[in-house]
Amino acid sequence: MSNIKVGVLGIQGDIEENVLATAEALKKLNLRGTVESVRYSESIADLDGLILPGGESTVIGSLLSIQGKVFQTIEKKITEGMPVLGTCAGLIMLSKRTYDKVVGETKQKLFGMLDVVIERNAFGRQHESFEADLEIPVLGKEPFRGIFIRSPIVNNVGESVTILTKLNDKIVAVKQNNIIGTSFHPELSSDRRLHELFIKDIVGFRKD
Ligand code: GLN
Repeated sequence: MSNIKVGVLGIQGDIEENVLATAEALKKLNLRGTVESVRYSESIADLDGLILPGGESTVIGSLLSIQGKVFQTIEKKITEGMPVLGTCAGLIMLSKRTYDKVVGETKQKLFGMLDVVIERNAFGRQHESFEADLEIPVLGKEPFRGIFIRSPIVNNVGESVTILTKLNDKIVAVKQNNIIGTSFHPELSSDRRLHELFIKDIVGFRKD
């Protein structure tokens, strides 16, 4: 297979951490590939897979509203089946609806392909950040260390959505065809299995 091209949306959030995590995952899987921060529609159109990083979804959304072409290119690529991994704010961006316990429905710009309703900031504020061991059967028996920073939770999943894991009965990772979404930040732990899962989706998508 020729070089795999992975992009990390380089607008706001933990971009570099995802670039590094993906490069490590490619290496672990013994695959040739490039991974870089992307922010123009021409480079996004050329990708085999895209990561929407954690950060602040309202900021990412409003910057994307100004850059309509970038938004449309991402939307088109995901609809065509390009694998995408959304972590934390990235998960929020992929969802079809989102609300906050305090302010109610947040009318923010979303891609809306992932058939879930999201509760933002569901675990509290920045200082209430925490880590927890998660059972994620699709990644194997070893628990995955989840790092939660002002994380959302997933509610009301649609029929096409598979729940990858829960924490205290709250859904914190899902998969819907080519879309993987996590409430936590896999790029901040040293475990690369989630990025590897995403890359395996890319290999399946490329078919060459
Ligand atoms: N609370 C942020 C939001 O709603 C997400 C936090 C994160 O990505 N770490 O966009």
